[in-house]
Amino acid sequence: QNKIAKLKGQMKSYPDFPKPGILFWDIFSAISDGQTCTLLQGLLVETIRREFPDIQAVVGLESRGFLFSFAVAAELGIGCVPVRKRGKLPGEVIAYEYKLEYGTDVLEIQKDSVKPGLKCLIIDDLLATGGTVNAAANLLQSCGAEVSGTLVVIELEALNGRSKNMVYRNRARVIVR
Ligand code: 5GP
Repeated sequence: QNKIAKLKGQMKSYPDFPKPGILFWDIFSAISDGQTCTLLQGLLVETIRREFPDIQAVVGLESRGFLFSFAVAAELGIGCVPVRKRGKLPGEVIAYEYKLEYGTDVLEIQKDSVKPGLKCLIIDDLLATGGTVNAAANLLQSCGAEVSGTLVVIELEALNGRSKNMVYRNRARVIVR
């Protein structure tokens, strides 16, 4: 509990960034300090060992999800797979198009990076409306992967993003609320 309070205390929020009306939580403000990096890595790894002991890979979402997915994958000795926005991954990719408030966006994964039946955990810095994690979960399912759940550093609970996700339902875990 102390550790979580310390982490929360280190996170800065910025009103009206990147657009008016948005309060942006800046994850980098917490990890510029070495002790907090170690603390956060420990909390993430602890959560995975407890809640998702049998996962075989972590899937990091562009771009801040990459930081945390690699940090835990290296510690747990499991694979680390990127999901990126359209056009950024080389080789054959599988794409998933999803709706935004205005228009659509596309997430992609490299075809060979997940085998059918692979048990994976989606990792990102923040869960807001849930649209991004939901799209990533659908993309992974379309590849035949088994989505065990998702782990984020921060959840903006008021937006109730986890309710949107029909793939992993209530298997969303969070470090800071
Ligand atoms: P959602 O799709 O759940 O609405 O938004 C989550 C995605 O947007 C995540 O990939 C996250 O990185 C980014 N995001 C939305 N709001 C914030 C914020 O306040 N801080 C940070 N660091 N990322 C945000």
